Amino acid sequence: MKIIMQYKFSFNQKFFDLTKSFKYLIILSSFTSAIALSGCVNSNQPRQGEVGDRANVSNRQNPQGKKVVLTTFTVLADMAQNVAGDKAIVESITKRGAEIHGYEPTPSDLQRGQGVDLILDNGLNLERWAERFYNSIPKVKRLTLSEGIQPINITEDAYQGKPNPHAWMSPQNALIYVDNIRKALGEVDPANAAVYNANAKIYSQKIQAIDAKLKQAIADIPPDKRYIVSCEGAFAYFARDYGLKEVYIWSVNAEQQATPKQVQRVIEMVKSQRIPTVFCESTVRNEAQLQVVKETGAKYGGVFYVDSLSPPDGPTPTYLQLLEYNANTLIKGLNPP
Ligand SMILES: [Zn+2]
Repeated sequence: MKIIMQYKFSFNQKFFDLTKSFKYLIILSSFTSAIALSGCVNSNQPRQGEVGDRANVSNRQNPQGKKVVLTTFTVLADMAQNVAGDKAIVESITKRGAEIHGYEPTPSDLQRGQGVDLILDNGLNLERWAERFYNSIPKVKRLTLSEGIQPINITEDAYQGKPNPHAWMSPQNALIYVDNIRKALGEVDPANAAVYNANAKIYSQKIQAIDAKLKQAIADIPPDKRYIVSCEGAFAYFARDYGLKEVYIWSVNAEQQATPKQVQRVIEMVKSQRIPTVFCESTVRNEAQLQVVKETGAKYGGVFYVDSLSPPDGPTPTYLQLLEYNANTLIKGLNPP
């Protein structure tokens, strides 16, 4: 058993840094199953409020039998944790800083999915891997948080005509996400429904306060300067809410390089509209945007956080901080000293 525990320690602490070998994953997943079956108790304390750290739900200490909620990425985990408070354990499948569009679930993700009470996803084609994942855990309750939002369709590239998945970037949509989370938690855990209702109300007020603050700040930018230029077309909903014009290199982050045509389109827009600053997302390489910088003389204004929260010591450990950080980065870039 001692040897098995050492393997397990290695799995929890270091495994994802060591290898992506599928075979190795299956072996380690088997070890973790063996531990669960033999009744060993994990001595690690639950880390409330931390999301995306890939701790193993099925083996963590949960003496109060709290409901366990799994989300597909860290932004949703933070929203759900705010609604859950200390009444449920919330974790994210993908970790902080991860690129989420091209994610492939691992055997250990599938194993984790079997042990949870609720899975929350975004929908709108964000989780292209979801079907395979859900087919393996047909009995687990799941909910798509973008249900009820007004989708904006993508107008470029291979994704033309499909809904833009980045609906959470609009605080107005986030209020709908939060209400969906509130209802879903109340259904799987009716005993704590009143707490979830109260938490959702407080969190929604915080989202509304940030929304009002961003509206005020962006209103100070002259209308002809209100461009948001980034690598990914992730700001469609944000731009709609705040009266910005969105310019991007590619519509959805994928394992593809920017085409010369895509880069040229942005170069021409930046030149013709005299846009002073361009940006890129934290989860992708920014070479293509640096080429725009080189060809236009615009400044590179830094990164936006969209598909993933930053680590706890980074600038955007929560969704609310993500909204504020992006807006401040944009405003600073559009008003160069
Ligand atoms: Zn994205």
